[in-house]
Amino acid sequence: MSRKFFVGGNWKMNGDFASVDGIILFLNQSGGNDQVDIVVAPPAPYLTHVKAALKNNIKVAAQNAYKVPKGAFTGEISPAMIKDLGLEWVILGHSERRHVFGESDALIAEKTVHALESGIKVIFCIGEKLEEREAGHTKDVNFRQLQAIVDKNVDWTNIVIAYEPVWAIGTGKTASPEQAQEVHEWIRQFLREKVSPAVADSTRIIYGGSVTAENAADLGKRADIDGFLVGGASLKPDFVKIINARL
Ligand code: PGA
Repeated sequence: MSRKFFVGGNWKMNGDFASVDGIILFLNQSGGNDQVDIVVAPPAPYLTHVKAALKNNIKVAAQNAYKVPKGAFTGEISPAMIKDLGLEWVILGHSERRHVFGESDALIAEKTVHALESGIKVIFCIGEKLEEREAGHTKDVNFRQLQAIVDKNVDWTNIVIAYEPVWAIGTGKTASPEQAQEVHEWIRQFLREKVSPAVADSTRIIYGGSVTAENAADLGKRADIDGFLVGGASLKPDFVKIINARL
């Protein structure tokens, strides 16, 4: 089963027009690659600007979205708005949403269902904290986070799973290719048992957490690693090397 390699760039709360234009420039000059799905997620105020400027079939994602189409929810944006901008993707369940903003498995599942029903594809993030890994709970935590959407009978064709161990995000401490592959294999096995063999074979499971141009090639060779979700390194021209890591 061949799964198209997928590389996401999560810009988080970084950038201004000058630096955003710098990223657009290197992506437009050399970011295109037919063999890779490329999706970048700028902060919400820059979504339309980035969408209008990017070439090479590079897609744009929102970094978050709420669970209803509209209403009195100050500060939130909805999948309907993302769709209205002509965008296809949203990141949900990122560890910063879970652990800085206290989003629960249940809320993230509701948001995922609503985004999918609104016609927006989801980069669904999961991952254990360091203390959970050290206590031997890596499998339980990732399975629990996944189970929340398995319970909702979601449309898996529009989901990419991002395994992002919290201890590796923004820390410079990447999971080794063996550590990442082990968890990706567990996740695929989980999908095989809880959803279906077809979904297990076709769903992209990407790795995130201190991915760099240096470590991407090794990680990208592993059987169950179908791409990356890149934070810090997606703001720099080296991101292009990560996009091309599998070539
Ligand atoms: P990082 O972030 O690459 O800066 O570790 C990854 C992420 O949070 O998606």
